[in-house]
Amino acid sequence: MNIQQNLKHILDSIPKTVTLVAVSKTKPNSDIMEAYKAGQRDFGENKIQDMADKADALPKDIRWHMIGHVQRNKVKYMAEFVHLIHGVDSLKLLKEINKQAKKHDRIIDCLLQIKIAKEDSKFGMAATEAKDILQSEAFLELENVRVVGVMGMATFTDDENQVKNEFDRLKSIFDTLKNQNPEFKTISMGMSGDYPIAIESGSNMIRVGSSIFGARNY
Ligand SMILES: *Cc1c(COP(=O)(O)O)cnc(C)c1O
Repeated sequence: MNIQQNLKHILDSIPKTVTLVAVSKTKPNSDIMEAYKAGQRDFGENKIQDMADKADALPKDIRWHMIGHVQRNKVKYMAEFVHLIHGVDSLKLLKEINKQAKKHDRIIDCLLQIKIAKEDSKFGMAATEAKDILQSEAFLELENVRVVGVMGMATFTDDENQVKNEFDRLKSIFDTLKNQNPEFKTISMGMSGDYPIAIESGSNMIRVGSSIFGARNY
């Protein structure tokens, strides 16, 4: 199947209320344009420099999602155009995003990355840490960032029960935080291997790469 067929196949199988972020990391602009021509507008990258280069070259109505780990010293390269930063894992990073957003007179939407997987390699904070940040004076002073939800990655395993449990946990963390934060609306969970389970658990934003663009060659 080609990119446009893959895209259609996924869109036909998910509820309209779920946003599909097409993860185009390592893929050439021509692949992104294939998806764009089929109507796709949300794209995800995990390296700020790559995303900036692509944003520069491609149509301006693309919504760029930063889904990777964010280094503070690189926030400035995406502050002007990024649509949503999924992987925010500290107050320090929020402060830097706020500072750079201010320079462009924008408010940048962010998701707090919560660690739900058992693997140590996965980034993210504990639910209690997210709650503390959202209630802190320092956070409430930030006028140019808006935290609109959470993001998480399940353990890479064939054990579907474990994956389901981890996604259920993130959904319940989202629900709890939403009680105190009316701006909460987005729960970003689910990738090529597990997005149907994530949607079952209440995901409304999935990040899918290889099922659309094929395997990545690094
Ligand atoms: C690469 C990546 C994805 C997409 O992975 P696929 O398995 O190719 O769908 C989703 N989320 C994050 C954070 C990623 O780094």
